[in-house]
Amino acid sequence: MAKVVFPCPVCDVPAQASLDAPNDWQCSACDHRLRLDATPPKLPCCAICGNLELYKRKDFPHGFGMVLLVVACTLSLVTYGLYQKFWTWFILLGTALFDGVLFALVGDAIVCYRCNAHHKGFPSEGHEPFELTIGERYRQERLRKEQFRK
Ligand SMILES: [Zn+2]
Ligand SMILES: [Zn+2]
Repeated sequence: MAKVVFPCPVCDVPAQASLDAPNDWQCSACDHRLRLDATPPKLPCCAICGNLELYKRKDFPHGFGMVLLVVACTLSLVTYGLYQKFWTWFILLGTALFDGVLFALVGDAIVCYRCNAHHKGFPSEGHEPFELTIGERYRQERLRKEQFRK
């Protein structure tokens, strides 16, 4: 169940494709075509642009943890209002625990420094977390390219 989520290299429309078998991807917006090879279990390079520098990051939906916290606090206020101290603690502790478990369970996404493609379903061993110096180098590269386009 390996897949990649990426912006189209030409028009930046968000897209996703499976990497379990070789397939031809075509952009729904600009008809740009991309040949995607099936990748070995350990990702050697970016499936979209072939870049060798990748980093890992927790594939954790942003905002989800916050929503959970708000819901838990609201619920605990309700139960507290009803003098149900036990349930108040139960909900608060339960949510904190659930949050931690969820964080441990969600896998890492392997992200390309150059094209920002997110590869999912790959082991993250051997990949380093985001490094600012490398990220900055690619940011500069992007800026230069954008200037060149004008
Ligand atoms: Zn496109
Ligand atoms: Zn890439």
